[in-house]
Formats: sequence, C-alpha cells, structure tokens
Amino acid sequence: MSGQHLLTNEFHVPRRMKAWVLGGPDEIFLVDKPVPQPGAAEVLVRIDAVAVCATDLEILRHGVPAMVEGGLPFHKNFTFGHEYMGTVVQLGPAVDEFGVGDRVTVEVHAGCGRCERCRRGMYTSCLNYGEVAKGHRANGFTTDGGFAEYAVNHVNTLVHVPDDMSDEEATLVVTAGTSLYGLDVLGGLIAGEGVAVIGPGAIGLLGVAVAKALGADPVILTGTRGKRLELGKRLGADHVINARQENPVAAVRRITGGGGVHFVLECSGAPTALDEAAQMVNRGGRICLAAFPQAPVPVDLAHLVRNNIYVFGIRGEGQRATHRAMALMKQKRFDARLIHTHTFALDELPTALKYARERIADAIKVVVKAAP
Ligand SMILES: [Zn+2]
Ligand SMILES: [Zn+2]
Repeated sequence: MSGQHLLTNEFHVPRRMKAWVLGGPDEIFLVDKPVPQPGAAEVLVRIDAVAVCATDLEILRHGVPAMVEGGLPFHKNFTFGHEYMGTVVQLGPAVDEFGVGDRVTVEVHAGCGRCERCRRGMYTSCLNYGEVAKGHRANGFTTDGGFAEYAVNHVNTLVHVPDDMSDEEATLVVTAGTSLYGLDVLGGLIAGEGVAVIGPGAIGLLGVAVAKALGADPVILTGTRGKRLELGKRLGADHVINARQENPVAAVRRITGGGGVHFVLECSGAPTALDEAAQMVNRGGRICLAAFPQAPVPVDLAHLVRNNIYVFGIRGEGQRATHRAMALMKQKRFDARLIHTHTFALDELPTALKYARERIADAIKVVVKAAP
C-alpha cells in the first residue's frame, strides 16, 4: 500500500499551518506557524486527531513536565499535545519504513540513540532528555506536539494504524502503551497472576484492559467513582472495589483468599496509594507507580523491606509498548473506545481542555480533530 502512495503526490503540503501555543500558565493562543520539515529518519504527519491527556492539563497550568530550551515551556511558541495520530504526507531522506498516505499513531519519546540508556533500549529514560541538538525528541514535552495541523516525527515513534480503526481509537494507543509498559517493568509474566489496579483514570482503565488481555487472573480495580468502576468492568475487571464502600486492601485480601496479588499498577497518585499497594501484594510482590502524587508522601518502608516488595517507577511508554498495545487493539482484545467520550474541532481546544479538566458530562478521553 505504501509503495503505491510513494509514486504519487496526492497531499498538498502548505507552507504555513494553524497551531496552538502556550502563552503563560493557563493561556493558549491559536497562531500561524511554518509547517516543519522532516529531516533524516523523520516524516511529516498531518494530524487528524489528538487526545487530551491529564499531563497536558498539568503542562498548561504548571509548565512541567514539559521542558523547552532547558526551562519552562511558557512564551516560547511551543505547541503541546502528545497523543495524536494522522497521515504521513511527506518523507525525510531515505525513509522507507512508512509511505506517503499511511495512517499512523505516535508514541512520545524518540531517545537520542547515543546515550547509555538509549543504547540499552530505555529510550524513555534518555540521559539527553530535552537536548534537541543531540537528537532527543519528546513531541509535546520538549519539541512541538500535536495541537496543530502538522508535526514531524521520527520513524521510531510511529505505529501503523489499520484501516478499520477510527482516528479517535488510534489516539488511545499511546495510553494503552503506557499501561502495557507498566506491566512490562513488573516482569511481564502476567497470565494467571493477580493484578490490582488503583485508580480508574485513562491509564488505570486501559491497565485493566491490557492486564486482562494478557491473561491476568483476577484483575481487581479500585477507585471512588462508580461510573468509572463500571467502565472498568466492561474493560475486563473481574472485581471492582469502591473505596468509599469497602477498604480496598481488605477487599483485595478477601478476593484472593488472604493471599494478596502478585502485581499492583498504581495509577491514582493518591498519597496513601503506595502503602495500600504494599498491603495488597504478597511477599515478593511487585508494584509499578504510573502516577505521581502532588507532594512528597511518607511511606512504610520497613514493610516493603521486610516483605521483599519491589517498587518500580515508569515514565512514558518504552520498549515499543505502543506496537504491542496496537497489536492487542487491532485484534480487538479490548475496546479502548469505551474511554473516548467527547470530540471537538481543533479550533475548540479551549473547550476540549475544559471538558477534560472539569470532567464535564463524565468526560474521560476528549479528542480534538482537524475536521470532526
Ligand atoms: Zn499522555
Ligand atoms: Zn539517549
């Protein structure tokens, strides 16, 4: 298919484009910017859809975790947004991994490829994070992202999208990839083992879906919002625990006959979550932290040590997890579309961000599209 497209020039690429940029905190502007040019190992993507992530709301208000030119991303003509998909419209020199016309979705991190972490395959932990001149890219964090008409992507950050997958669903691959990477760092042997997921946000809900797709048994989701927990059931949770009604630690113990689970995926960022997770796992169990609390939290470290409990932190979606997440979604092992709730036009980004932040009309994943 891509070979066919290579011979044609069916996409007119303009010189200028519309793009949202950050002003100061909680301030964005729709501006006119040059369309970026793809370099070696890069392609130009026409952005067809982009999902709003909780991290975008964080960047909008506080700047971090985005980092542009070594500092906060404000007033730098910086375009945020990192959960996007689109169509390849132009190829950099010697690119043959993708063709013009291919539908693609993206992962965030292109490591520098030259530091020790990148060389070991840990490109989301690149030691040259933010150093554009050294080749590092994290679109929407350190380099221009997806709330725009076009973006340049390294070929390593792209995944093909099957014809029968909608644009909206394809934007969710990076979220599912993050959940999957969380399970990867826990050791990956998930089938037949108990997994508890704390926090039914987007990553937690897809964490449930991915754990179930990989054969985890049982999958237990804990949280405080009834509707989200119901959604968790539809995504594959065997048990959901409303922490307002039952102590989640006691519930996990009850469900597992007192034994606890092997793995916990912590997606809430709640200050008590690590201590709770440590009580949910069995001896030698493993905990992955995929959300961050707003402030330092006291933890019962002695319990972790006495029980040989492993704690991992993850950032992003490493080890090509987006490719594996896409494989599961393509095979319809779970229906990620359940967490997509709203779609707006690119021009309406402020409204989309408001829906996501205030969870208006039970918003979970809010998507903006160039032409909805
Ligand atoms: Zn995100
Ligand atoms: Zn690197």
